[in-house]
Amino acid sequence: MDKKCYFIDLDGTMYWGTKVIDGAIKWINYLLDNHIDFYFLTNNSSRTQEQACQHMQKMGFTGIKPHHFYTSAMAAAEKIARDYPSKKDAYYIGEEGLKQALISNGFTINPEKADFLFIGLDRQATYQDYSYAVRLVKDGCKLVGTNNDRLLLSEKGVNIGNGSVVAMFEYATSSEAIKIGKPHNAIIEGALRYAKVAKENAVIVGDNLETDILCGNQAGIETIFVTTGVHNMEDCYKLDIKPTYIVANLKGLID
Ligand SMILES: [Mg+2]
Repeated sequence: MDKKCYFIDLDGTMYWGTKVIDGAIKWINYLLDNHIDFYFLTNNSSRTQEQACQHMQKMGFTGIKPHHFYTSAMAAAEKIARDYPSKKDAYYIGEEGLKQALISNGFTINPEKADFLFIGLDRQATYQDYSYAVRLVKDGCKLVGTNNDRLLLSEKGVNIGNGSVVAMFEYATSSEAIKIGKPHNAIIEGALRYAKVAKENAVIVGDNLETDILCGNQAGIETIFVTTGVHNMEDCYKLDIKPTYIVANLKGLID
């Protein structure tokens, strides 16, 4: 059998904000030491691969590299570039990670005449920014949502998630966004291409049944549900979303 490749969620699986989850570093070190392939698969579009890597290095993860990260921003830019090869003008609400993904995929950031409006989390965006962007969609620009997360967890409690901003744009424009992040298929399809891995050899690891585990179930990919994050064992029944495996701590995955 070919080697497994793990696609690992970040928030609630590896860390909470800036606090490492027990067992996470140990498991990543085990994967690195045993040359087992893995990628961090995140709905967060705001950080570049380099920034995401630095964020984890600061928390004490060692040996990980920028190429280990695959974000919803990368998936969004890659999918649209692939599906619409002749359309190269884009505008975005988002942070550095989304901007860099668009440029890397050959888009020109063109606020005057965009074919696509990409919506990613932007913690500085204002009412004026949203209003400008909404006019682009009214003028025919297509809406792309990097993820549909309702809420974003932080040390202070929940914050508005990017999915709520995407929903606002959909409501304002009576149009439906192209959906990318987990549980939608685009992000895992992009990640498999990026990693050059067949889905039979992939395993999705995450704490969220409605995003990570549902993504795997819909794509026909094995899943490992870790109960250190937003959902617990009972939620599997409540939500009727069944993972392939359940672990209370990632240390349980070390032979
Ligand atoms: Mg998570």
